[in-house]
Amino acid sequence: MIDLHTHSLFSDGTLLPSELVRRVETMGYAAVAITDHADSSNLDHVVPRIVQVGMDLNRSQSVKVIPGVELTHIPPDLIGVLLKRSRELGAKIVVVHGETIVEPVAPGTNRAALEAGADIIAHPGLLSRDEARMAAEKGIFLEVTARKGHSLTNGHVVRLAADTGARLVLNSDAHSPGDFLSEPFARKVVEGAGLTPDAFSQLQENARSLLEKIGYSL
Ligand SMILES: [Zn+2]
Ligand SMILES: [Zn+2]
Repeated sequence: MIDLHTHSLFSDGTLLPSELVRRVETMGYAAVAITDHADSSNLDHVVPRIVQVGMDLNRSQSVKVIPGVELTHIPPDLIGVLLKRSRELGAKIVVVHGETIVEPVAPGTNRAALEAGADIIAHPGLLSRDEARMAAEKGIFLEVTARKGHSLTNGHVVRLAADTGARLVLNSDAHSPGDFLSEPFARKVVEGAGLTPDAFSQLQENARSLLEKIGYSL
């Protein structure tokens, strides 16, 4: 499994990064991105620490740790600035907390994240066809999520991705141990989103290609 969206106790997850990584290692994960929630108040606190623990763990653990961040509830006109700052601080994957229908995410967040060049639009909610097209053109991944609530619009996201050629990744958005994805459950989430059973492999391949683009080979 490759999972590019998880939370540690550096935001609202329950696990220390080292325990998070150890737990997914025992589940046979190949790679995990730790992408804690951040805005301008905590970005410089969170990202360098995830970078540090990632470097330490990558010396010994079999699962590859990718330091990232999830820019969350950022006013859309600030997303570009904070995305650039995230990369300067060492985030290899920048996820933007997209317009899920179960939270009052500011309208325009998906578009601002696409314009700014995020890596993944997490739980994009009822994104528009134009936005899906922009994701396809810019090589930005749209998320199929296993997270309760956010997953209500997986079907919509899958349909627009199929229509526009946007590529999808499957993520757990895990906040605690029970949220990590076993492969059999991940396959069910993919199928439940309206994809064919063999799409699971394609989504994992998409995640692998994103990692290759940012310099990780598995
Ligand atoms: Zn989120
Ligand atoms: Zn998240």
